[in-house]
Amino acid sequence: MKHRVLIMRCDEYRADAIAGIIKEGMEELGVKPFGKTLLKPNCVAAHPELFPHAFTRAEFLEGAILAMKAKGEAVTELGVAERSGITIPTRWCFKNAGYDEVIARNRVRATYLDEMKHVSVELKHKDRLRDFIFVPKPIAECDFLVNLPKFKAHPWTRLTLALKNYIGLQDDRHRLVDHNSFLEHKIVDLQEVVQSSFIAIDAISAGQKMMLTPTPFHMGAIIMGSNACAVDTVGCHIVHVKPQDLVHLRMAAERGFGPLDLSDIEVGGDFPLDEIQERCTEFQFCLERVDRYFGPDGNLACSVGAFPEDHSRDYCWGGCPGALQEAVHIFRVYYPDILQEMKKVRYVVGKVEAPLNLEDGERVLFAGDCTSWQGNLNGEKLAIAGSYRTRAEVDAHKTRSNDMILKIVGQLWECFKSRSSRHLHARGCPVSVAAHVNYLSALGGVKNPNFDPRNVLSVNWAYLQMRLHRFWNHLFG
Ligand code: SF4
Repeated sequence: MKHRVLIMRCDEYRADAIAGIIKEGMEELGVKPFGKTLLKPNCVAAHPELFPHAFTRAEFLEGAILAMKAKGEAVTELGVAERSGITIPTRWCFKNAGYDEVIARNRVRATYLDEMKHVSVELKHKDRLRDFIFVPKPIAECDFLVNLPKFKAHPWTRLTLALKNYIGLQDDRHRLVDHNSFLEHKIVDLQEVVQSSFIAIDAISAGQKMMLTPTPFHMGAIIMGSNACAVDTVGCHIVHVKPQDLVHLRMAAERGFGPLDLSDIEVGGDFPLDEIQERCTEFQFCLERVDRYFGPDGNLACSVGAFPEDHSRDYCWGGCPGALQEAVHIFRVYYPDILQEMKKVRYVVGKVEAPLNLEDGERVLFAGDCTSWQGNLNGEKLAIAGSYRTRAEVDAHKTRSNDMILKIVGQLWECFKSRSSRHLHARGCPVSVAAHVNYLSALGGVKNPNFDPRNVLSVNWAYLQMRLHRFWNHLFG
């Protein structure tokens, strides 16, 4: 039997209208939630001014909750579960996304996955990255997972739809494991833990180019289905991407999680595929290497070398370079001309063997554990040694916490120690977006958005709450 995917028209964020469309979709697809039901939106970052287009909108979440309630005679628990982007407390994002009101009004449970105990789940597929993967206990134990992605382009994986939304399940300790050139493999491994029982993509206003700071694109649709590969395949066609080019989708299909070919999918709904394709001919992506993306008109230049894994020698799409792009776009929200205003910085990533030929005053950020270089800097010999660890060498049971405060203090201390040096080596695999922000701010001599007075108190208050709840849940959860 063919998998079914529905594309429905929806031009505005009205919870009652969205609820009606999702209910209709559930009826047509024969979806009946039951037991412990969790709704997983994409709330990687949310703020009305800073990240207004990065997340599944609150009205969409409310529409989905109302639909689950209407169709959920067999539901025993209904909750909203998510882990926002690395180090950002999920509580802070929920508040800024407007989720708190929706959750309170509809009397459902908020499950902040960064505060939950994680359990290891055994993986069995022959192409798995690891024998075990860590996921939050509520995810491992849920009966019915409702996947509510935001339709967005993604600078690391091209698109983030149903499959990629799973990266938002893990807490920071486990999220960065294999978040490098193995990111696509990891997305697929997560499908083995739990598959989406129902998917509704918020494609009313889609996001272009970046994942944290996308530009809005009116798509005017809700895309629904009950197989993530089928939904993502249709999503690819909507924005003129070959499904085979969405690497994690191809891998998931190869592992048997669903179709990759449109002929294996029955596409229905009131918004014909060719019509929405026509609307999306100008949808924009940003899948560019950093050495091409940052041009001579700015003060940031990049030297990209070779990378350690055979399948990605020429570029690390899931790691540091993409984090740099996201970091620069975060700066741009605050300072649109950051690339012209900052001091000259050379970003070096991978094994670079050529001389850097720095300009006067240009400082160097060597980024990531795989990065190595040797040569003369300031008239002195310098050797940056790579310390990349292979998958087998990284024990997922012994990972660092990646705690927000510890990370920020550690990175600022590194910057302080290197204040009179011409270079700094940022360690990590990957170096996160937040870390890139700290390092660029120090080397480029620009204000650090992490200390923006609009957010510093609220973020830290949410952080303290997160730590307390996390402590409690780890003791008694
Ligand atoms: S250190 Fe960064 S660039 Fe190098 S492999 Fe790891 S994530 Fe990729």
